[in-house]
This record gives sequence, structure tokens and C-alpha cells, in this order.
Amino acid sequence: MNIFLYFCPGADPAMPHAALPALAARLRQDGIHDYSLYDLNVEAFLYFLNGEKVTRAREIVQQQLNNGELTSAHPRQEVEKLLAASADLPQRIEDCAAGFRAPEIFYSPDKLWAIKADAKAAFRLLSLQYDPTGRLRFDKYSLFEGFSYNSFEEIRAALEDPAATMLVEFYREKVIPDIIAKTPGLVGFSVPYFPQLLPAFLLAREIRKTSPHTHITYGGPVITWGKETLMRQADQFASLIDSFCIGEGEDCISELAKALEMKQDLSVVPNLVYFQRGKPADGPHRVNAVDLGKLMAPDYSGMPMEKYPAPRRVISLPLTKGCYYNRCRFCNYSFIKMTTYRERPAAAAVRDIEHIIAQTGDRVFSFESDVIRPGYLLEFSRELLRQGVDIKWHAVMRFEKGTSRDFFDVLARAGCVRIYFGLESANPRILQKMDKGAAVEIIQKTLEACSGAGIAAEVGAFLGYPGETVSEARDTLNFIRLNRSHIDRVDTGFFRLLKGAPVVEDLARQGLCPDKTGADYWYTINVPNPTLENDRPTFEGILQELENLFPVLGALDIPEEILYAARFGKAIINQVGEMFERSMSHQEH
Ligand code: SF4
Repeated sequence: MNIFLYFCPGADPAMPHAALPALAARLRQDGIHDYSLYDLNVEAFLYFLNGEKVTRAREIVQQQLNNGELTSAHPRQEVEKLLAASADLPQRIEDCAAGFRAPEIFYSPDKLWAIKADAKAAFRLLSLQYDPTGRLRFDKYSLFEGFSYNSFEEIRAALEDPAATMLVEFYREKVIPDIIAKTPGLVGFSVPYFPQLLPAFLLAREIRKTSPHTHITYGGPVITWGKETLMRQADQFASLIDSFCIGEGEDCISELAKALEMKQDLSVVPNLVYFQRGKPADGPHRVNAVDLGKLMAPDYSGMPMEKYPAPRRVISLPLTKGCYYNRCRFCNYSFIKMTTYRERPAAAAVRDIEHIIAQTGDRVFSFESDVIRPGYLLEFSRELLRQGVDIKWHAVMRFEKGTSRDFFDVLARAGCVRIYFGLESANPRILQKMDKGAAVEIIQKTLEACSGAGIAAEVGAFLGYPGETVSEARDTLNFIRLNRSHIDRVDTGFFRLLKGAPVVEDLARQGLCPDKTGADYWYTINVPNPTLENDRPTFEGILQELENLFPVLGALDIPEEILYAARFGKAIINQVGEMFERSMSHQEH
């Protein structure tokens, strides 16, 4: 039986995501070799960066402008400027992807910005062509922003919207011919990011029409997130998909492939919910946690490695699964991951890395686990040093007591160039309300030690946690400003109440209940947030000030920043940010 595994558009195309190589390895482990991996995210990026398509988009946008068809989402002057500036874009656009891959362009910031600006202009024109109302925003990270998918009806309406034609054309030309030629018995979609959800449903619909007997299954965090929605309207979702996986997908995909091959009852498949006559069949009674000690190394051999728009691929590799802390009240990881914290034994992780280097030639890694225990990072770093494996890497950790300068020195010697920390707030009362488990002094000392060891730090911080006052939000801004020399990037925005986060219960106790139940939402829940709403302009000003501290935000995307830090060291991040700021102010004058 042929198996096709898809990763849909809606994520950054610069690096291969870990999901497909992990699923491929699990299939091989069970002796299943008849599978194909499709990173449609990078394929779509390359497909649309095309001279003819951009020419056509310019013509259509010009007509829309002439006919007054653009809505207020696209101010006339801006569109006129875009059209004037893009006259010779069609001739240049196909060099864009090659430019991203050329080290002499990629590592020269002004040349990199020029090709990024070209790609951005092309995607803006294409988005306008397909959706003058402005709901479709095709860029490196986002798609179909203006739709909400809280029910089957909303999803069906989005699938029928003219904006969706953009991807339908891509699927019909580049994806469906393979379905027709090979009629796979099973297609699996990995959906780790929300912007991929509608693209996944669109493709499922196209496959259904073409190959009605192919079993279509979904997996990934976004699917676990929406499990109530999928089950509640099972009779309707069954028209698009046959099953979905709750929690981790590696064991599920392999057992599903075997069960379909043997025509077995699907109830034997761990973590699988499947539809029978339009109803969810009795779902899994226990969510299976993959044994990280037994997995094979991810298999990148089926990935289109030469296509990624970067001179070196950043290989994403989860070393651990779940969160060992699991208490932050705003976080719904326990809701979507549903399993305990586990670690790949350090020696096995280092063997995986050697395997991937041999397979791909790449030596820059992003250990994209939810969060990694410091003790494990230390053990893993020592193993890398013991085995003499020369790589550069980025990881994710919590602020914890005891991560001193010695700790970060070992990580730096083992190739660590960058760490993401969840700061969230620097106000003690808010940190306590979040049950973040980190005191401001510990956070400050950790950042100093990390930076002293030459490791770049990105911190996540958000404003508007329920009950946060303006002065508490300012505490976060002031802390970051004060520690700016130890912080290289900030990932910021406003608080969003995520379905499944424990804070939902806190708000319910205060009578701030959402107007629908959690089950009615796929992703976020709207609740009144009076402290934020009463002073929104002030909060927005603080957010802006926070972002202004880091000009690198406009200069480098995260995979680019990892590659820059890996090649030149941490200092380059601020240097590039400053160059970007100068170049912007030069353009303004
Ligand atoms: S925010 Fe991070 S540390 Fe806190 S529970 Fe979620 S994954 Fe764990």
C-alpha cells in the first residue's frame, strides 16, 4: 500500500520540519518502506515565486484598482506604490529562491533584505489577486488570516471562498497528479501550525474528490487541539477525513498503515479516532506516549533537501517531548500533548545527529522540543563533546535556579549558539499568577550567564495577561530594556486565551466565562479583558516600545538568525539589527 505524508503550506519554508522525517523513521522501523514525503510548504513557496504568476497577479491587481474592487484593507496609494515598484519584479523573482541559497547573498544583510523584499512584494500581489478583501495573507508564515475555523460550517465556508482558489490551483497542478498516478491507500497530514489547518482541509477535499477510497488521516498539535470540534461534528468532518490522531503520531501512523493493509478493525490503532458511518468510533481509552528510547533517528532521505531557501538547512530535531514543569496557567501544552515529559537518551540523540549529518551534510540544528530540562542539556552537551561531534545548535529552556555561567559555558563549548526562554512577564505578581515558577532575580542572573557564555537569548514575553495593569506591563518593558545587552531578540504580542489552558478555570471562577464552551473553539477563546481593553492604546504603545528595542525583528527571521549566529557568533544579531535600523532611517529620509 502506498502511503503519502504531507506537510501543508502555512509555516516558514526555510527549514525542513521534523514531523515528516520522524514519521518516516517510525514506518521504516516497522518495515514499511512504501511511503513518500511531501513538504508542500516549501513546494508552494517555490511554485508561487514565478515570473508568469507575478506578471498575471500585477495585471489583475491593476484591474482591481481600476475597477475600485479593493477594500479598505488595501489602501489605494499603497497598492499603486506596490505596482509601480514591482514593474520588473517578474524578471527577478525566479532568482529569489536561488538567492536565498547563495551564501554570498544570504550572509550579506542588504542583499538578503533585497530578495526578501522581492518575495514579500510577490506574495502581496498574489494575495491581492486571489482575495481583494484582504483575508488571505500569503507570506512566509501565514495564510488565510481572516477566517475563523471553530466549526465545520466555518471551515466549509472558508474552503468555498474564492481566496482558497490560490492553493487549489497549486494542489491540482502539483499534488493531485501523483494521487491519480499512485492512488495511495493512506494519506497522512501533519498539522503542527494553525495556518496549515485550512490548507490541510483544502487538500483533503481535493483528494476525496479524486481518490474516494484513500484513507485520509490528520495528526499534529493543531488536530489534538480541535478534537472536540472534530468529534462534535463528526458526521460532517467525515466527508473530508476518515480519522485523526490525538497526541503523538509516530506509533499511530505505523499501526494505522498495518491495520489498513491487513483490513483490521481500526480500534487496535493507538491514539486514533476514526469515523464509522459518520460517527466517531469508540476512541482511544488511553493516549499512548512514544518511547523515545526506542525510536530510530529521523529519516531525512525522502525530504526535498535541495529545495529549502537557505544556504544551509537548519535541521529541527526534538530531543524531548512534553514539559517537565507543566504548571504555567496560560499554557495548554498538557492539553495538546497529553503525555508526560520524556527525553531521548543523550547517547542516542548524539547518534541521531551523526546519522543526520551523514544523510544531509547539515550541521546546524534546532532542538525544537517544548522545553528541555537543564540537566538533560548538560548531559547531552557533554556527550557531544565526548564524541567530538561538531555542530551548532539552538534549544528551548525554562529559567531555572542553578543554571550558572559554568552550565552555559559547557553548552557553548558543545556548539550552543542560541536559546529561547519563556519569560512571559517580569512583574512578580503576574509571574506568580501565571505560576511561572521563576523569580525575577533568577531570570536576570540566567540571562547574564547565558550571554556571558556567548549564547544568544531570545525571550518570549506577552502583555495583557488577565488582570495585568499598565504599570505591571511596563515592568516587563523596563526589565527587558535594562537587560537589553543580555537579550538578543524578543518574541512578543498580546495574551491569547488558549483552549485547554488552566487559566480558563481561573477566569470561570471569576465569572469571566467565555460566551461559548471551550469545546466550541478550535484554538483561542475570547473573554472580556477589562484591564487591557480600558487602556489598549497604552498597552499597544508598550508593545511597540518593546519591539523597537530589537530592530533585528525586521531584519532576520528566526531560521536566518540561527544561521547567522552559527556562522558569525552572537554579536552579529545586534549588528545586523543596527544596520537594518540605519537602512530604514536612510530610506525614510
Ligand atoms: S509554558 Fe513552557 S514551561 Fe510552562 S508549562 Fe508550558 S511548556 Fe511548560
